[in-house]
Amino acid sequence: MEDNRGLFEALTRHDSVMPVFIFDPSILNHLDRDDARVTFIWDQLKELDQRLIARGSGLKVGLGDPVEVMAKWVQGAGITDVFANRDDEPDTMQRDETCRLALEHMGAQLHLFKDKAIFERGDIVTSDGSDFRVFTPYQRAWCAALPHQLELFPSESMLHRLDPSPPEWEVKDLSDLGFSRSAISVSPAKVDPDQIARYAQDRDSPGIKGTTQLGIHLRFGTVSTRKLVSLARDISDVFLAELIWREFFQQHLYHHPTITHLEFKERFRQFPWQHDEEAFVRWCDGTTGFPLVDAGMRQLNQTGFMHNRVRMVVASFLTKDLIIDWRWGERYFARKLLDFELASNCGNWQWVAGCGCDAAPYFRIFNPELQAVKFDPDQTYIKQWVPELGTKRYPMPMVDHAWARKRALACYRNLT
Ligand SMILES: Cc1cc2nc3c(=O)[nH]c(=O)nc-3n(C[C@H](O)[C@H](O)[C@H](O)COP(=O)(O)OP(=O)(O)OC[C@H]3O[C@@H](n4cnc5c(N)ncnc54)[C@H](O)[C@@H]3O)c2cc1C
Repeated sequence: MEDNRGLFEALTRHDSVMPVFIFDPSILNHLDRDDARVTFIWDQLKELDQRLIARGSGLKVGLGDPVEVMAKWVQGAGITDVFANRDDEPDTMQRDETCRLALEHMGAQLHLFKDKAIFERGDIVTSDGSDFRVFTPYQRAWCAALPHQLELFPSESMLHRLDPSPPEWEVKDLSDLGFSRSAISVSPAKVDPDQIARYAQDRDSPGIKGTTQLGIHLRFGTVSTRKLVSLARDISDVFLAELIWREFFQQHLYHHPTITHLEFKERFRQFPWQHDEEAFVRWCDGTTGFPLVDAGMRQLNQTGFMHNRVRMVVASFLTKDLIIDWRWGERYFARKLLDFELASNCGNWQWVAGCGCDAAPYFRIFNPELQAVKFDPDQTYIKQWVPELGTKRYPMPMVDHAWARKRALACYRNLT
């Protein structure tokens, strides 16, 4: 309600607006039954509903194929226009197009708006009109195009235009969706200017809370990207750069939707990835015998979060020490990460694996032990997640890193 373009546009153009949310089984069916993101969305919707009820309205919540649910609602209530914020993931765009056509068929119109990013799609392009594939020039162009003042879209003063009849939810409980409450809870969106001011010095230490953990809120729209960017530009260029990486990968996915399953650099499509399920399970479970890798995977499994530095180390370990297909790692992260975003996940996985746009050079192979010494020197992070370290219960390293590094480089050399 504080800054939501779709809602703002609906309230600006219409006297009677009904806020709605639809749970889509084609997404839900692929998730674990206690997926923390579903619990998070559920709780956020309940809270929003309460806030809307306090303003004399309420949220309408449905479950089913969005086209069918919308058709039922549009016909039942004589709705003429549907407003939403868009998302450029390939499946989502296809769904929205199907919805648009179905609505048109019923005499209604779908209006989609840019909300989750400052710049999207073809907003920032090179001088010859093509998309950027290298981050630094994209960042330069992005900053040059950033308006002095970002316009916000608050709805507070127009909320009297909301439909005055609080609707019954079609789903009464999480169990009606086929889900149970997750043991993982999500911290509320807290934007702390002091933390952002210290970001440049703190962000690489997994043992302290040096990053914002706002990823899930950016993903689901429970924090305003525009407000965050406005704050970041005044306080921390390093933090702002991370928000720009997010938009870099979003526009990259928009222009190259196949990066969800194909290496961006074509020559990597012949890479001899190993499909070693046993080794993969050890990586997933955090029992590789490399403490920083294991700490990261356990943090992910237990909390739905993993520190960025450690994400790079575990991804490098999977794709280079074990030469396991980056797609396996990407899918595992997609299942577990609270802040999972298709564009950022595929973009970063391909970046670490060396096959993406502006990727790290392939020969840059993280040494998990040296990374631990450098970024977790007193082992605060490692000891938190691997308490049995130093006892007989902790496994021996599953590979010899020096040997594995040579093997990875040999695979790479054979490609060229
Ligand atoms: C293998 C791998 C997979 C990743 N998968 C995801 C993912 O699915 N979703 C995701 O949001 N980030 C992903 N990242 C990027 C990064 O690790 C997370 O955004 C960050 O750790 C989230 O923590 P935070 O919210 O505390 O971020 P902060 O450091 O506080 O940064 C603020 C925000 O900036 C954005 N951001 C930061 N770093 C990056 C980055 N490298 N790429 C894109 N956006 C960034 C995120 O939205 C983040 O929430 C991945 C990184 C790696 C190496």
